[in-house]
Amino acid sequence: VAGALSARSWGRLPLAAAATTVAADWRFQALPGRDEVTTLLAHGARRSYGDSCINSGGTELDTRQLDRFIALDSNAGTLRCDAGVTLQEILRLVVPRGWFLPVLPGTQFVTVGGAIANDIHGKNHHVSGSFGCHVDALTLLRSDGERRVCSESDNAGLFAATIGGLGLTGLITEATLRLRPIACDRLVVENLVFNSAQEFSQLSGESMDWEYTVSWVDVFARAGRAGRGIFSRARHVDEPGELTAGGGRMRMSLPFAPPLPLVNSTTVDLFNRAYFLRGSRGLGVREQHFQPFFFPLDAIAHWNRLYGRQGFYQYQCVIPRDGGVAILESLLRRIADSREASFLAVLKEFGERRSPGLLSFPRPGFTLALDFPNRGAKTLTLFQSLDDIVMSAGGALYPAKDARMSAQTFARSFPGSEVFSQYVDPRFCSNFWRRVRTGL
Ligand SMILES: Cc1cc2nc3c(=O)[nH]c(=O)nc-3n(C[C@H](O)[C@H](O)[C@H](O)COP(=O)(O)OP(=O)(O)OC[C@H]3O[C@@H](n4cnc5c(N)ncnc54)[C@H](O)[C@@H]3O)c2cc1C
Repeated sequence: VAGALSARSWGRLPLAAAATTVAADWRFQALPGRDEVTTLLAHGARRSYGDSCINSGGTELDTRQLDRFIALDSNAGTLRCDAGVTLQEILRLVVPRGWFLPVLPGTQFVTVGGAIANDIHGKNHHVSGSFGCHVDALTLLRSDGERRVCSESDNAGLFAATIGGLGLTGLITEATLRLRPIACDRLVVENLVFNSAQEFSQLSGESMDWEYTVSWVDVFARAGRAGRGIFSRARHVDEPGELTAGGGRMRMSLPFAPPLPLVNSTTVDLFNRAYFLRGSRGLGVREQHFQPFFFPLDAIAHWNRLYGRQGFYQYQCVIPRDGGVAILESLLRRIADSREASFLAVLKEFGERRSPGLLSFPRPGFTLALDFPNRGAKTLTLFQSLDDIVMSAGGALYPAKDARMSAQTFARSFPGSEVFSQYVDPRFCSNFWRRVRTGL
C-alpha cells in the first residue's frame, strides 16, 4: 500500500488534488472497505491523456500486480490473462507463436484493463472493429465484494457496460481475448500523398481492402495546400517468415519537462514542412517490421514532456462520413486559423463493425486526433469552437483523450449513457465522471 501520490495522466495537465494509490493483487485481495476510503477507481498504465484514469481526492487502485498470463490456447488463438498485463507483454508472448493482437492502439504500453475500459481502436477499425469486439469474457470485482464473470451470455448487461465503461463498473481482474494469426512479423506498407480532405476521403474509400490505414495531416498548411498529408496503408505479409516481437529498446528519452513547451507554432510549422517533404520522398510500397508502423512514438521515452510543465491536451472527435469532407475542412480551417500548434494530427476512417460496448466511441465516419499544448483559456476556446462543429454534425468526442468536455457534449456523444449509468458501481468514480455527470 502506497501513500498519497499526485496522479498524472499522459497529458500531464496540472491537478488540483492528489489521490491515494493502493497497489495489490486484486485476484485475491478485496477492495478497500467503505470505512477506509471514499471513492475508488482502477488505473492501468495511465496512457489516457485526460482525467478518465484519475480520481482526485479518492483512492486509485493500481492494477500492475495483475501481471500474469493464465492460459494460451495456441490452436484456438485465445489468451486468458490478468488485466494489468500490457499489450507489449502479450506481443512478446504471442508473436513468436504466430499470433497477433486483433486491435492495437498507437502505443503498446497500455494494459488489457485500460484497453477494455476505453474500448480502444486501431488502424484496422474498418476491418476488425474495436478491442471489445475481441473480448470473449472478463471478470469484474465489484465494491460489494462479488466477482462476476461477464460475457455476451453471462451478465451480458454488465459486459456491455464494462467495454468502454471508463473503469466505472468495477475493477477488471482478468480477460479472455481472441487473437489473429500471422505468418511473419512484417507488413507491406504503402505511403501516398493527398492534397486535400476530399483526396483523403477518396483514398480512404479506395483502401478499405487494406487491413490498416492511417494518415498524418499537416494542420498548418493553408490556402491551396490545406488538408494535405500522408496516407499510409498496410497489410501483413502472407509468406511465412521471422516472428519477432521487436520493440525492446527505447532509442531516446526526454529526461525532464522544459519550463516552456518546445511545441509552438514555429517548431510545428518547420516540423510539418520537413515531415511532409520526407513523407513525399518515401512514397511507394515497402516491407517493414510491424513495430515502427504501429508504434512510431514508443521509441522516445517520455515524449509527452515536450509540451512543458503545463502539459497538453489531445482532441479526438469522430464525424459521420456523409458530409464529412466539408466538416473536416471546417475543423482544419478553424485549427489553422487559431495557429495553435499540433504536429501530431492523425486522420482515419472508422468502419461499420459495432462494438458490444454501450459507451464505445468508434462509429462509422472520420476520426481526427490532434495534440495541443495547454495554453489555458486560449486552447479551451478553440476546443469549444471545434465542439460546436462536431456536435452540429452529430459527431462525438473520445473520453480516453479528454479532460474538458462538458456534461452536455458527453450526453450528445453517448446516447447510451443513461442505460450505462445503471451499471456504474456506486463506489467507483473518476474526475471525468464527476465532470460529465455532475458538472463538478
Ligand atoms: C501515444 C499514444 C497513442 C494512443 N493511441 C491510441 C489509439 O490509436 N487508439 C485508442 O483507442 N487509444 C489510443 N491511446 C489511448 C490509450 O490506448 C487509452 O487511453 C488506454 O485506455 C490506456 O490504457 P492504460 O492501461 O494506460 O489505462 P489508464 O489510462 O490507466 O486507464 C484508462 C481507463 O481504464 C480504466 N482501467 C484501467 N485498468 C482497469 C481495470 N483493471 N479495471 C477497470 N478499469 C480499468 C481506468 O479507470 C480508466 O478509466 C493512445 C495513447 C497514447 C499515449
